[in-house]
Amino acid sequence: MKTVLVTGAAGFLGSHLCDRFISEGFNVIGMDNFITGDKKNLAHLSENPNFEFIEHDITEYVKIDGELDYILHFASPASPIDYLKIPIQTLKVGSLGTHNLLGLAKAKRARILIASTSEVYGDPLVHPQTEEYYGNVNTIGPRGVYDEAKRFQESITMAYHRFHGLETRIVRIFNTYGPRMRLNDGRVIPAFMGQALRGEDLTVFGDGSQTRSFCYVEDQVEGIYRLLLSNYTEPVNIGNPHEITIKDFAEEIIKLTGTNQKIIYKDLPVNDPLQRQPDISLAKRLLKWEPKVDRAEGMKVTFEYFRSLSEEDLLKSEHKDFKNHIKK
Ligand code: UDP
Repeated sequence: MKTVLVTGAAGFLGSHLCDRFISEGFNVIGMDNFITGDKKNLAHLSENPNFEFIEHDITEYVKIDGELDYILHFASPASPIDYLKIPIQTLKVGSLGTHNLLGLAKAKRARILIASTSEVYGDPLVHPQTEEYYGNVNTIGPRGVYDEAKRFQESITMAYHRFHGLETRIVRIFNTYGPRMRLNDGRVIPAFMGQALRGEDLTVFGDGSQTRSFCYVEDQVEGIYRLLLSNYTEPVNIGNPHEITIKDFAEEIIKLTGTNQKIIYKDLPVNDPLQRQPDISLAKRLLKWEPKVDRAEGMKVTFEYFRSLSEEDLLKSEHKDFKNHIKK
């Protein structure tokens, strides 16, 4: 039986990855410090004999007894509101945390896949974004803490690959959604769905002409799984190329949820990328992968999930906006 360590295991993507690797017959060790993760996302695995959980902050030395075959490094705040609130931790987990895990991978001779992001492209001047594009990032802007941590993470991972011959994989994840997203994480899908459920107006930032392309979690996990088992070491985009403006998306959510509320407009956060769409030609060619779940279907399942949460969760999640980081 192979063993995989998943960091950020209590998070949205981390917990789905734990499920996938358990279902594929792996031993899974989950690690999280719960800074943004939630114990509830792993509750269903607590009795599973193939699952072990270690509460740990990976910016401190990471110690694992026994053999490790794979490491999936998914620990990081991942929503703009989170990394504005905890900027230093965001930088530390992408840099010091990644360094510790690369060291662990080297000691255990394990293959490591690190979670990178479409944010390495910043506010992109190339559209759709291909892996060759170097990006357009403001190093000192409010999003810089995340973007640069992830860019450093890619660099140090390639250095370990080139210098130590470590087996490494890099996935550049584009906007992904589905059950277990945190209702109060500030990202647009939980934000709009939470607002619809609480009977509040939907807050579109800016004029809503900025675009995103949303990938259902099951598709994302499939792409990551295939990439890990492939022999490709350079970054690969995984996301859904179906692009939509945020305003049209708000209208879709109003229809889906049946809310009587309207759209209201708020200021656009600083450095909010104006357009984002993955070019997934490489993943198609290399991994024979493409997304299967269309937005209507994925959004329905996701809304059912948010609707099933308790009243208390819903009230706790009331909408936050960016206060100090609004374009003047
Ligand atoms: N957004 C919005 N209203 C909200 C939350 C987000 O209009 O209540 C916009 C945000 O400005 C961005 C897009 O939705 O243009 C996606 O934001 P998200 O925070 O989900 O992630 P990002 O793709 O920017 O990392």
